[in-house]
This record gives sequence, structure tokens and C-alpha cells, in this order.
Amino acid sequence: MSRPQDLPVEKDAIDRAATLLRQGDLVAFPTETVYGLGADATSDAAVAAIYAAKGRPRFNPLIVHVPTTRDARRLVRFDDRALALAKAFWPGPLTIVLPRRRGCPVSWLASAGLPSLAMRVPDHPVALALLRACGTPVVAPSANRSGRVSPTSAAHVRRDLGRRVALVLDGGSCRVGVESTVVDLTSPKPALLRPGGIAKSAIERVLGQTLRRIRPENGDGARLSPGQLASHYAPRARVRLGVRHPGPGEAFLAFGGVPAGIETPALDLSPQRNLAEAAANLFAMLRSLDRAGVTAIAVAPIPHRGLGLAINDRLERAAAPR
Ligand code: AMP
Ligand code: MG
Repeated sequence: MSRPQDLPVEKDAIDRAATLLRQGDLVAFPTETVYGLGADATSDAAVAAIYAAKGRPRFNPLIVHVPTTRDARRLVRFDDRALALAKAFWPGPLTIVLPRRRGCPVSWLASAGLPSLAMRVPDHPVALALLRACGTPVVAPSANRSGRVSPTSAAHVRRDLGRRVALVLDGGSCRVGVESTVVDLTSPKPALLRPGGIAKSAIERVLGQTLRRIRPENGDGARLSPGQLASHYAPRARVRLGVRHPGPGEAFLAFGGVPAGIETPALDLSPQRNLAEAAANLFAMLRSLDRAGVTAIAVAPIPHRGLGLAINDRLERAAAPR
């Protein structure tokens, strides 16, 4: 797969995208996780346009992207734990939920009215150049219609959003391929709201503390982790998990080799059973198996360790009843 660095986006394109963002338009751009649909986080109208373009429920808050930790500290209140995580993982696929500062200019629509904000500094040269050029915090959920498979290329974005997006910056394929890990630090007990591109264990090592896993379906999970919907990341075809041999009419998403004798369309997330490679391939392969005539996509078992947590989370939502 092409690395983002192989396809530099010209400075003119960045400047044009920054101008569009400042005007309140929507711009899609590459990050290391997936393509984001960006809007000026300080503009109610621009943030509302994001929810409309994605068909996203208004109760599902957005992540605010900034180019540096310093910029993040202007918007939310950091404590020592947050500083340690930012130092260890930013720029990178970690989102930290923190209390909003008084006078913070981010639209309340962005956080669905919550007194906290989810913050991230992405690790991608195009995303960082755009954030620096526009000089305003940018909300950027994945650049797809709500509930569907996330985009990991510029072509995916165009296919999903068409004319709903003013400009797409093409930075090639996304290196990580699954969304950021979301950690809540608004209470003394840190919590994992969503597994993602940084392993839970790596975060726990930095915090010197275990993360409690908040599941939206349990207890006060829905309040703490709004928008983590059971059905999400869904292709058109049904998805069946933990399958070793696909049935008739089923496409197969393998991990560590396609068994001999399979005649349905099949792709391998990682022949060498490498979880980082599997994460990077996940969404593009789901999209490519999701063809007419395929009744279901059967997926091989994926280990529940490291990045496997994020992969299994996305697959479980893709397979959830719609
Ligand atoms: P997405 O933009 O789809 O990658 O998802 C962002 C996710 O981050 C949301 O679905 C929420 O679960 C989580 N999130 C964003 N803002 C907050 C917040 N203020 N409090 C808790 N979770 C948040
Ligand atoms: Mg998304």
C-alpha cells in the first residue's frame, strides 16, 4: 500500500482546504487512522453541516483535532495523567476526553452538549499541515455516511460522500487503518471508551494504572460513551464472525492464510498474522468484498490482543443486528 509520505499534497491544496474550512465548508483529509471529514469546530453552522453530511445522530459527539498539545491545552483542562499520555502518544491515534475550559470557543454541538471535549493531535503530515494552516480547531469524524465502513482512501470518501464534501485531500492509504483509542480522563478512574490504534496495555503502562472498559450497553456506559452504537462500520452484506470455512455465497475475510479449496471471493487481512497489517487492511477489504451477489462476509477469528481489540470491536459492530 502507498505510504502517505509518497504522495505529498501540494501547499496550494492545503491553503485552499484551509480557506474552505475557515469559510465553514467541509473538507476531507487523510489522517493516520482513517480519512476525516473536517469542519471548523468553533462554528455552529459548520459543525451542524457535519452531522447533516454524515447523517450522524446529534447525540454522538465529535473529536476536536489540533496540531499541538499546546493548542489542546487552550481548550480543555489537562492534568498530569493527560500530559503524560499526550507526551507519550501525540501526535498519534489516541483521543483524550477532558473537561472543557471556561470560554472554550468550540461549538457545544461538537460535544453534543457535554461539559467535556474529546481531543486529538493526528500523526499525518497532511492533517498537521492543514490544522496549522487553518488556525482553528477542527472536528473530524470519519468521512463516511454514519454507520457504514470507514474510509481509508480518498476514493472511498468520494464514493460515500460525493458532492457533500467541498474538497478531498488525497494522501494515499491510511497507515493505521482503525480509529483512535478513546480514553476518558474526566474522573479519577481513567476509562477506555473505545479501543483503537494505540493498544490499551501501552496506555496502562504510561498511566501506571489499569483502564476500566466502558461498554455503552452496560450501566452508565451510554452516558459516558455516547455514540458508540452497537451497529456501526457495516458493509451492505451481513457479517459473520469467527468463521474458519465460509458457506455458499459468502465472501471470506481470512487472517493468516486462505484455506485451500475456497471458491468464493476471499482476501487475507494478514498472511503473516500481523495485527497492525490486519488493521490497516480491515476497512478497504470489507469494502472490496461487499459486492453484489455476496450474501454475507464471513470473517476468520482474530486474536483479542494489542490492535486485535480494536479490530474485533469494529467487526462486532459490523456484525451487530441493524
Ligand atoms: P468518531 O468521530 O466517529 O471517531 O467518534 C468519536 C467518538 O468519541 C464518539 O462516538 C464518542 O464515543 C467519543 N467522544 C467524543 N466526544 C466525547 C465526549 N465529550 N465524551 C465522551 N466520549 C466522547
Ligand atoms: Mg466513524
